[in-house]
Amino acid sequence: MTQNLHFAEALLPGGWAQDVRLHLSGGTIARIESGVDAQPDDQKHTVALPGLPNLHSHAFQHGMAGLAERRGSSADSFWTWRDVMYRFVDRMTPDDMAAIAAMAYAEMLESGFTRVGEFHYLHHDPVGIPYAGAAMAEALVAAAAETGLALTLLPVFYAHAGFGGQDPSPGQRRFITGLGQFAALREASAAALRVLPDAVLGLAPHSLRAVTPDELSALAQMAGTAPVHIHAAEQLAEVEACLVWSGQRPVEWLLGHAPLGPNWCLVHATHMTADETQRLAQSGAVAGLCPITEANLGDGLFAAPDYLAAGGKFGIGSDSNVLIDAAEELRWLEYGQRLAHRSRNVFARGPDASTGAALFEGTLFGGAQALGAAMGLAEGNAADFVTLDPGHPALTGAKADQWLDQWIFAAARGAVDGVWRRGKQVVSSGRHVARDPIAANYRSTIARLLA
Ligand code: ZN
Repeated sequence: MTQNLHFAEALLPGGWAQDVRLHLSGGTIARIESGVDAQPDDQKHTVALPGLPNLHSHAFQHGMAGLAERRGSSADSFWTWRDVMYRFVDRMTPDDMAAIAAMAYAEMLESGFTRVGEFHYLHHDPVGIPYAGAAMAEALVAAAAETGLALTLLPVFYAHAGFGGQDPSPGQRRFITGLGQFAALREASAAALRVLPDAVLGLAPHSLRAVTPDELSALAQMAGTAPVHIHAAEQLAEVEACLVWSGQRPVEWLLGHAPLGPNWCLVHATHMTADETQRLAQSGAVAGLCPITEANLGDGLFAAPDYLAAGGKFGIGSDSNVLIDAAEELRWLEYGQRLAHRSRNVFARGPDASTGAALFEGTLFGGAQALGAAMGLAEGNAADFVTLDPGHPALTGAKADQWLDQWIFAAARGAVDGVWRRGKQVVSSGRHVARDPIAANYRSTIARLLA
């Protein structure tokens, strides 16, 4: 089926273009023309942006959003949150996972994300016995199919409770595998992904706490050139434990012992020295920044100015999914840096350059690389794009990069109008086309889990 759309403006890989016609065929962009008038049968919109990659999500955690905002008895606030998370997952079934992930994925699409990197570690049943096949991965695939979101599945290898191969704790029983079992789980996940047209399969050693050096090198080999994601240097306690174990900091250890390259994504990379920052940028790996979750958990701030100056690549992730919103994620990314450096427009690429454009294009490029997918409005790519509502008051008078600046910094919610995935419109007037049944199923699932 062919279909043509016309936009007054569109953000193409080479920059903004006017009077753009997209010719879609079979879910992909067959041809792009610019500087041409609309034809009578074209669907017409004002402005088109490429869909954004969300490079780091734990979908099920969306179900506990807002439930861990109380001070615990321990001084260590992150681990208090983790305890709530473990209690929440104790009862979750594959059907619950599918319901919660569908809500999270619908909200991702509504905010302008069109692909997610799902860092998936809830593998086994509530007592820790493996499901037949990969039931939890199948639930995530079902949520991606129901909502239309593109999926890069990153099955997580998780074997230990702390540095140096410590035995896992009972709270981790649903996550734990050996290498052989993990390889089987990954094969079953590959089979489950076949129903999706453009899914990507990578893998994720959970963190240096959860894998030994030998396991990490086996996983890097298993991945080949597929995406490899790992949590690294999110919390100071983790950095200190890594120093005690190895004499090195987590990112320093990875730079020296793992084959970091363009298919690697270090999620968070919050606590780095100047030397680590420089070397991570040079490695070609992507820093997976999750500003809303990092703020929610009190992690700290990434060394953005030095990393950007060294040419480092970054993308954004919604991680805990406590609040899902692409623009707000980018706004927090910039605002954290402004507060830390008492300066404005930290991400902007030079004098008079737009901060919104640097945030948007940086995360599009880095996130697509990290998720192993071609993204952006280019011929041959999947027809994944977003239209903004030109009638939104915050977008008044916008042109070119101003669309991005005004959307990210001034529009709050309601600026995203339509979202298309593989040429099919899945969000209309800011709402996912299946929002009502997905939300009803989500509400009954959460009520049951919390009863
Ligand atoms: Zn995470």
